[in-house]
Amino acid sequence: MFAEVIIPLALPKNYTWHIPEEMLPGISVGCRVEVNLGKNKKYAGLVKRIHGDAPLSFEAKDILNVLDPEPVIHPYQLQLWEWMARYYMCTEGEVMAAALPSHFKLSSETVLIFNEEFGDDFSDLDNDEFLVAEALQMKHELRLNEVQQILDQTHVYPVVNKLIGKKLCFVWEALKQAYTAKKETFVLLSNEYHDEEKLAELLNNWGRAPKQMDLLLGYLHLMKTQGEVTKTELLKKAGASDAQLKGLVDKEILHLEKRSIDRIMYAPKDITIDFTLSPSQQEAYEKLQACFQERQVALLHGITSSGKTHVYVKIIEQVIRRGQQVLYMLPEIALTSQIIRRLQKHFGGYIGIYHSKFSQNERVEIWNKVKSGELKIVLGARSSLFLPFRDLGLIICDEEHDSSYKQQDPAPRYQGRDAAIYMASLTSSKVLLGSATPCLETYYNAKTGKYGLVELAERFGDVTLPDIEFIDNRTIAHKPGEKIMFSPRLLDEIRTTVARGKQVILFQNRRGYSPYQLCTVCGWIAECRNCDVSLTYHKQSNKLKCHYCGNIYPPVTTCMACGSDKLVQRSFGTEKIEEVLETELEGIKVSRMDFDSVKNKNAHDVLIQQFEQKKIDVLVGTQMVVKGLDFDNVDLVGILDADALLHFADFRVHERAFQLMEQVSGRAGRKAGKGKVLIQTINPTHPVLLHVARHDYAGMYNEEIEKRKQFFYPPFSRIIHIHFKHKERDVVFDCAHQFAKAMDFVYRSYIVGPAEPVINRVRGMFLMELLLKLPRDAQFIAKCKDDIQKEFANLHQQTRFKKVIMLPDVDSQ
Ligand code: ADP
Ligand code: ZN
Ligand code: ZN
Repeated sequence: MFAEVIIPLALPKNYTWHIPEEMLPGISVGCRVEVNLGKNKKYAGLVKRIHGDAPLSFEAKDILNVLDPEPVIHPYQLQLWEWMARYYMCTEGEVMAAALPSHFKLSSETVLIFNEEFGDDFSDLDNDEFLVAEALQMKHELRLNEVQQILDQTHVYPVVNKLIGKKLCFVWEALKQAYTAKKETFVLLSNEYHDEEKLAELLNNWGRAPKQMDLLLGYLHLMKTQGEVTKTELLKKAGASDAQLKGLVDKEILHLEKRSIDRIMYAPKDITIDFTLSPSQQEAYEKLQACFQERQVALLHGITSSGKTHVYVKIIEQVIRRGQQVLYMLPEIALTSQIIRRLQKHFGGYIGIYHSKFSQNERVEIWNKVKSGELKIVLGARSSLFLPFRDLGLIICDEEHDSSYKQQDPAPRYQGRDAAIYMASLTSSKVLLGSATPCLETYYNAKTGKYGLVELAERFGDVTLPDIEFIDNRTIAHKPGEKIMFSPRLLDEIRTTVARGKQVILFQNRRGYSPYQLCTVCGWIAECRNCDVSLTYHKQSNKLKCHYCGNIYPPVTTCMACGSDKLVQRSFGTEKIEEVLETELEGIKVSRMDFDSVKNKNAHDVLIQQFEQKKIDVLVGTQMVVKGLDFDNVDLVGILDADALLHFADFRVHERAFQLMEQVSGRAGRKAGKGKVLIQTINPTHPVLLHVARHDYAGMYNEEIEKRKQFFYPPFSRIIHIHFKHKERDVVFDCAHQFAKAMDFVYRSYIVGPAEPVINRVRGMFLMELLLKLPRDAQFIAKCKDDIQKEFANLHQQTRFKKVIMLPDVDSQ
């Protein structure tokens, strides 16, 4: 018998190995096996298929070891991988590499790291395990081929696999920053008193120390209402002292534990629904249920602050009461402690969080608990759809319009939302898409009946959508060429809003201090050496940075072209806004939320918390301030440069600009009164801005969908965006043209380009691109994908194009 095995590499196809007789009883599809590849490389691959067809052209080598007693993934996951590879034009190995935690991926290059937390109690290990453990403890890390010197060849992978399973060591991940979670002291009730009777007895017979009893009652109340109790919070809310708490700890009624705040060790597996849906939410909820009777996918189009999360919670409740699992997907950056807390309050220990920031062990823990069915809900970013759900009932894809659902690099370049929909068809589960500003394709699918459509058109409570006003920058005096940062009106409104005790959010889609350093004598602009982009000045670090390749340069004081020192800074980023505000508005607390200010992994959550606690008056930020945040005290939102959002050469530019502005506006006036949004622009009659002003999603949709139809863009066509990269400009140019010529024969009317992109060089590589707009005919598209791959192979045969990187991006965004 033979096995087709997937190796986590970009190999053109899966290879076949022979299964030795004695391994047959122990091997099944979905198990990992140790195999030799090439001369002396070894890998842990995954068995995709077991069959009796000996390969014709070569003699299959033997499988060396079977590593798992039972499959690590379910059969439907293999189907998902296969689909993903085919659809997104990559290999199953690349999908495997993305799908499995590194824990499962062993190869000759693997480096093992000793887990210090394991300690030095090796009594449970067998001889081989002990030998490796000892070496690991001493050297801290070992390569797999070093392990080979310790053990007999044939035992390495099985032994290492067991040690990883026992958490004695883990697999080192290059590039992944170690994430040190913020630790807090949590207060926990001792196990004994989880028994209600024991607890009642304790309270009834309380003797002295009435203050301690108050504190205990305060604790019990907090635990009931929020599940998790931190020490700081408890002492503050119960007005108690450290000594009183210590008293309870000494009596072993409570105990303290330091743990990371975004990880749940213990929370009761309870469902607490402590709210009722508003009539319109209830209606939406019922309609969604009805939709799911007939369709697999439904879209909840609910305006900002309509309470979509509450509707989700009710639907999740239904599913987990039936015993099924729920995947709740969010864009990575929206996965904040705010939403985690909200869901934990309702579902306690049923929830697991899956986040790329988490350590391997934490991720593996979630993996196992999802597989065993212990966890009922997973809250995670797009990669959480690779988890081995045992009985999936529902996938929620929140903020479904968010383009970060699409993976850029490396392959698989998959769209998380679309992959979720495919996965739902494999698992017979339902998909709930939610957004205030749905992606045009999604809304089209809903409008045309492919998906169910439920609209939630009012905000929760007596709250209306904010008023939107434009400030016409043309009417404000300024030097020619200068960009206006603050109109007097906006500054005034910020001042009065803060004076009323309310908060302000300001949005600018540019980080850093100033994005252009321009010579006023000759027009020279400081640019990156590797990329065709201008350098952004960052004042705090006093450096010039390239936002494309990350290169850092010293600041320039003289022009590199003419030597003049008449350099000026044009335009502005968040850093400069923060600085100007601090000088203009004395006594006001301004903070900044962008890529630079939240580099430290916890900074994002900390900023959100400070803003929630009103320690910040004005929050200046990029896209980050937009994503799903729920603040109740924001009265004013300012969009400083709307024009910058409208000037991209992309067919999605208007849709994107609308989504962004509507979402930013949605942060205003969520709880009480009426919020206000001020938008600075030189083009206040731009159609997109007029739609934004009326919160008119439908208007924007109708206009855009017409254009999409006219110019044959999605949803009317499917696009495959092809990128070519090479060190030399003429090589990449010729390569792209040859490709186009070869494709021209069949696909002439569907090709746009090839052309040089606006930014034609990044990281030292010259770029060319080509777009295929294909009719929505699955067979035709499959054929085209084949032809693309054949042509890539053809080109790679030619010496001149051998090193040209050719990347297909299906449904690119
Ligand atoms: P969306 O995600 O649609 O923008 P949210 O789910 O964040 O809206 O809800 C907006 C605010 O209204 C939140 O603060 C939320 O707690 C509150 N809210 C919404 N629905 C309810 C409800 N049924 N009961 C109590 N509070 C609600
Ligand atoms: Zn100059
Ligand atoms: Zn660069």
